[in-house]
Amino acid sequence: MHYGFVIFIIMTFVSFIWDHHRKFFYIFPLSACVLVIRMVYFLSSEEKRYIFRGLLSRSRSLGVSGDWRGWSWDHPPLLSPYDDVFLTLSEVASKYCVTGRDVYLKRVERIKYVPNKRMVRGSVLHAVVEEVITFAKKFLYSNGVVSGSVISSELSAIALDEVRKIFSRFSQLISSAQYTEKEKETLFSRSVNLWLYEVNQISAAVDAVLARHPHVSLDSLVNLAIPIVVEQRLDGRFLGLSGDLSADALSFAPVILDLKTGKFRDFQRLTTTGYALVLEALYEVPIDVGVLVNVNFNEKNYPIITRRPHLISESLRMEFIEERDRKMEIVAEGSDPGISSSCPLDCPFYSICHGD
Ligand code: SF4
Repeated sequence: MHYGFVIFIIMTFVSFIWDHHRKFFYIFPLSACVLVIRMVYFLSSEEKRYIFRGLLSRSRSLGVSGDWRGWSWDHPPLLSPYDDVFLTLSEVASKYCVTGRDVYLKRVERIKYVPNKRMVRGSVLHAVVEEVITFAKKFLYSNGVVSGSVISSELSAIALDEVRKIFSRFSQLISSAQYTEKEKETLFSRSVNLWLYEVNQISAAVDAVLARHPHVSLDSLVNLAIPIVVEQRLDGRFLGLSGDLSADALSFAPVILDLKTGKFRDFQRLTTTGYALVLEALYEVPIDVGVLVNVNFNEKNYPIITRRPHLISESLRMEFIEERDRKMEIVAEGSDPGISSSCPLDCPFYSICHGD
């Protein structure tokens, strides 16, 4: 059993929330109740109240049938219709290509594609958030209990170097996506600002924990101030998905978070739904809430973070499984689903489908 999940289980048994409607105490993870912080992945107290007293309370009254929980992967409707086809979660959940021809071209015709600017920007910003959170944890474990200001000055000082390293890791993709020098500079400046934003929020979270628990142990400080596991690897094969999925962020609360950059799209809820099904299949605990975290930037390149919590409802689960089955059939049968009626101009397969 994964370490983070053990903590999740333990923390599930340590706090209680009063349900006004049912006049009943519910048990909730401690992490849901202790901090008021605004890192990319962390929820404010208002968001937590909305999730735990609003969404979760609604999920209990609406209910999700056991057949649509991930642990029912061994019988229909969740049972994978093909034993030898495994899709990535984004192949199932992405609806930029409405017909699914992108999956056909990639998996059946085996056409190599060049990621577009939107994809490259997403990868770079994901890497920034992953790196800064990992650095903060590493710094704390190497230096012991220190104040937020120490973390802030150390991690701010390395911002430029670390973002440069991320850019050099992605340099091939950045140039093949044909970023202009100006666009590259903008992305660089946004990446640095996102790094600094995260550093400030982590530092504030550390100080908030220290002020509240002055004798906190190091391990507890890390887990209270940064209660998140980034890029958690998950095996989705029970559900016909890849054996090496990577969830953006798992909180110790029963919530799955997914980071999106750019414009919010309704279908992005399928990503959080897919991860919830996989987690339910792996650990046999219900996951009822997903949070889409959208990172945008203002004209000064400062980050604007919008979080959209949503229920992992039965209808979203049905939609995800329908998409999985439809796209699996495309791959298994090798059947071309045809050109979509609304192709984004930046689709990496645009020239294949529409000619140059
Ligand atoms: S160009 Fe259109 S049909 Fe072709 S893969 Fe892209 S979105 Fe799909």
